[in-house]
Amino acid sequence: MKKILIIHTGGTISMKEDEETGAVRPDETHPLHDVAPPLASLADIYVEELFHLPSPHMTPQEMLQLRNRIEEKIANEQIEGIVVTHGTDTLEETAYFLDLTARTDVPIVVTGAMRSSNEIGADGLYNLISSVKVAISDEARGKGVLVVLNDEIHTAKNVTKTHTSNIATFQSPQYGPIGIVTKRGVFFHHAPTKRTTYPVQTISKNVILLKAYAGMDEAIFHAIQTLPLDGVVIEALGQGNLPPRAAKGVRSLLDAGIPVVLVSRCFNGIVQDIYGYEGGGKQLKEMGVIFSNGLNGQKARIKLLVALEITNNPQKLQEMFME
Ligand code: ASP
Repeated sequence: MKKILIIHTGGTISMKEDEETGAVRPDETHPLHDVAPPLASLADIYVEELFHLPSPHMTPQEMLQLRNRIEEKIANEQIEGIVVTHGTDTLEETAYFLDLTARTDVPIVVTGAMRSSNEIGADGLYNLISSVKVAISDEARGKGVLVVLNDEIHTAKNVTKTHTSNIATFQSPQYGPIGIVTKRGVFFHHAPTKRTTYPVQTISKNVILLKAYAGMDEAIFHAIQTLPLDGVVIEALGQGNLPPRAAKGVRSLLDAGIPVVLVSRCFNGIVQDIYGYEGGGKQLKEMGVIFSNGLNGQKARIKLLVALEITNNPQKLQEMFME
C-alpha cells in the first residue's frame, strides 16, 4: 500500500454547525482526524494537523509553510501522495501556490467541503476518500497539483470556486475537469500540457488585485501608490481593456516602476492586445503592461507574488506569465 499523508489546514471540512444558532465554526477536535476505517483499505495513512484556520485567514506565509512541510515529508519519509484539506474560499489560491512552487511529481491533491461535519449531506469525508483515491493513483503523478471535490478532478491552475454554497462549486471554466472519481476508481481523460515550477524560499512582496469597472478612474491607482507596493494585478474588461482614466492610473504605476499584470474579469478566454482606442489592449501593451494567459485575478496575484521573488524585470515577468 502507498504511504499517503493527509495534512489538515482547517476550513468547513473541519467545522461543526451549532444546532441552536446555526453558526458554523471550527471544532475543538478535527472531525476527520480519526477516519481510519474507510481509508485503511486504500492506503497507509498518516495524518498531520498543520493549521486549524478558516481559509479567509490563510495568507501566502501559511501557503509557504505548507509547501515546505510537504517537501520535507516527501524527502524524509518517502511519502507517495499528499492530500491537503482546506477551506474552500481560498482553496484555489493555496492549490495554485503549491502547483507553482512545489518541485515534485508526487501527487498533491487539495480538497475541502461545502457542508460542515455534522450537517446533513456533509461532503467532507466523501471528498477526503475521493482525494486519497486520486493521490494513490499512478496516473496522478506528474499532473501538477490537483483539486478533488464532488467526484471531479481539476487542475489547480484552472479550477475556481463558482458557487457560494452548492457542493458542485469547483469548476474549471473553459477547460473542464481532467478526470472523474467513481465507485470503481479514478479515470483521467485529459492531461495538462506543461507545468513550470518556481521553488522560491520566501514570499516578501506586496501585490494588490483591482477589478476594472465602467467609469473607473485614476484615483485608486494614486491611492495604492501610498502603500508599500511591489506589483498590481488588474481584472480588466473583456479582452484586456480599461477605461481611459484608469489607463492613465496604470501609466503612473508603470512610471513608478511597479509591474502591472492584466487578466480579464471575464471567466473564459485570455487577454490580448486587440483594441487600439484609448485604454484599449494595444495601448496597455505598448505602455508595458504584462498580459496573462488565462489565469483569474486571484491566481495571477499568487503568480506575481512568486515571480517577484525571482525578478522584477518586466520582460522576464511577461515571459513567466506566458508559461
Ligand atoms: N468559509 C469556509 C472556508 O473557506 C468555507 C469552506 O471551507 O467551505 O474556510
